[in-house]
Amino acid sequence: MQPRFNSADPAGLASADLWRQRAPDGKNTGADSRIGEAAQIGGGMNETVDVLIIGSGASGAAVAWSLAETRMKILCLEQGDWIRQSDFPSNGRDWEARRYGDFDISPNRRGRPTDYPINDDNSPMKIANFNAVGGGTVMYTAHYPRMHPSDFRVRSLDGVADDWPVDYATLEPFFAENDRMTGVAGLAGDPAYPPHQPPMPPLPLGKTGARYARAMNQLGWHWWPSDSAIATTEYDGRAPCINLGHCTPGCAQGAKASTDITYWPHAIRAGVELRTRCRVREITTNEHGMAAGAIYYDADGVEQFQPAEVVIVACNGIGTPRLLLNSASARFPDGLANSSGLVGKNLMLHPWPQVGGYVDERVDGDRAPMLSLWSKEFYETDVSRGFVRGYTLQFARAGGVVSEAIDSEARGLLPWGADHHRIYRQLVHRRLRIGIACEDLPEEHNRVTLDPVLKDSHGIPAPKIDYAISENTRRMMEHGIARASEILTTAGATNLFTSRTVLNSPGHLLGTARMGDDPQRSVVNAWGRSHDVKNLFIVDGSIWVTSGGVNPTSTIQALALYIADSIKRRLATLFD
Ligand SMILES: Cc1cc2nc3c(=O)[nH]c(=O)nc-3n(C[C@H](O)[C@H](O)[C@H](O)COP(=O)(O)OP(=O)(O)OC[C@H]3O[C@@H](n4cnc5c(N)ncnc54)[C@H](O)[C@@H]3O)c2cc1C
Ligand code: SF4
Repeated sequence: MQPRFNSADPAGLASADLWRQRAPDGKNTGADSRIGEAAQIGGGMNETVDVLIIGSGASGAAVAWSLAETRMKILCLEQGDWIRQSDFPSNGRDWEARRYGDFDISPNRRGRPTDYPINDDNSPMKIANFNAVGGGTVMYTAHYPRMHPSDFRVRSLDGVADDWPVDYATLEPFFAENDRMTGVAGLAGDPAYPPHQPPMPPLPLGKTGARYARAMNQLGWHWWPSDSAIATTEYDGRAPCINLGHCTPGCAQGAKASTDITYWPHAIRAGVELRTRCRVREITTNEHGMAAGAIYYDADGVEQFQPAEVVIVACNGIGTPRLLLNSASARFPDGLANSSGLVGKNLMLHPWPQVGGYVDERVDGDRAPMLSLWSKEFYETDVSRGFVRGYTLQFARAGGVVSEAIDSEARGLLPWGADHHRIYRQLVHRRLRIGIACEDLPEEHNRVTLDPVLKDSHGIPAPKIDYAISENTRRMMEHGIARASEILTTAGATNLFTSRTVLNSPGHLLGTARMGDDPQRSVVNAWGRSHDVKNLFIVDGSIWVTSGGVNPTSTIQALALYIADSIKRRLATLFD
């Protein structure tokens, strides 16, 4: 099946031309005069674009592709590089070692010139990301669940946090469009999941998955083949998965749907410009309080100014508040778009305990993608469990041979000396591991601020994270750990071990510029536009109101497509 372009709103496209006020020579008129002094700030000056997108990851790519059909002049600035598939660790025998080097999931350990440091000392959960064309999707595991309808109504259903200003039904067409563009593998008919029709058949369960499934049947608990952003057939020029099992540090086969190989080729072909190695320092505003463009450092480190009619921020739940806070000015002294004081607050990171164990036969080891089934048995609220909201159980394969050696030695299972090799053979490729994807609720004290000392290589203040796990989430984690232990025991696993917070995992960065109808309680409105600055939009994970108990990228991208569609429908009245 081929991906389809979304249906254009012909009225919206016609009005785009009016809105742009193009002069016969193709240059913008009118709106350029609003740039005023801001244009003078940077060392270099570029031609005005209609839309400037900052960040090329999951959401930036989706919004760029969707807006491309308007034929507006669209530019994306991305601080990272294109990553060639031939550079991925899975091309070499040292692939696991490189997960602790240039493909580490922590920017602090990875330390590429394109990364920025993050002070996460005051958080039990560390920050994982990737800064490149494709953003976090280059590095993600491609487990691809959607939020459930109840996730958008937690205040109405459970009396906690807030309802979203948008519901699942409104987003449904954009989930479907994103599934087509991304290429999702899965199986329709899951009774505990919103109805949908994935374009490709699911990943095989393998020996590991079949073992989990038998255990779940024995316990009478829900399980289903999971949705994955991994091609199981030829799809949109991409080759199918060949079960190499190195998905997380990048898929050299091109089966995993990172946006550098899904949305970006289509967006670029449709005329979007993507400028790499361009790190934005701040968004500037003009005398009317509108966004005027952005100051950035180009690939040679030279300061540039990029004027724009509309600015869309897609830098993720850490990078976006960092940029807005770094864009403080006399008019916006607490940071741009921050009259609510909520920029950076309500950070949600999805605590992710893991329980593992070993079975007495060789299973798949690390051959094949890490996850192929899930359970929604404990997803919806049941107050008799002692907490509100819930979690997804994710059934994982083992890691590689090096991670097995490191982990089992650290857990005291693998001795040094005469028995080392014999016991290692009893452990390797025999591990099962269940991840518990817990919903954490928004709390203002969990936040991103600017570190007073730490700076990136351009001297731009780095983000600082303060985060603590709430009592409700702790109870949920313990419940999940007990259930996962029961499942593993039923599956025949012994030597069980638990990690309550997995180092640098899971890289879900949410909630720091939340959506809402009330400008005093939110940063952007129901379609992603800043309450304070009418030509400024945010489309990444920072606009989330609550976090659900699922990996976020499918919903992040559906939201980005929905915001792009909302912009297209309102082009003529965008600044009203
Ligand atoms: C190891 C790992 C595994 C994961 N596994 C999964 C999974 O299985 N399933 C799932 O759903 N999610 C997973 N995720 C999370 C997923 O990657 C993110 O949810 C998703 O990429 C977020 O999209 P985004 O658009 O909000 O931001 P990102 O994709 O992070 O994109 C932000 C982009 O903005 C750029 N940027 C930031 N600041 C600036 C600046 N000042 N100037 C210029 N550019 C800038 C960055 O370089 C980056 O490319 C995983 C993440 C990691 C790290
Ligand atoms: S298991 Fe499949 S998706 Fe993962 S890296 Fe290998 S080929 Fe790519």
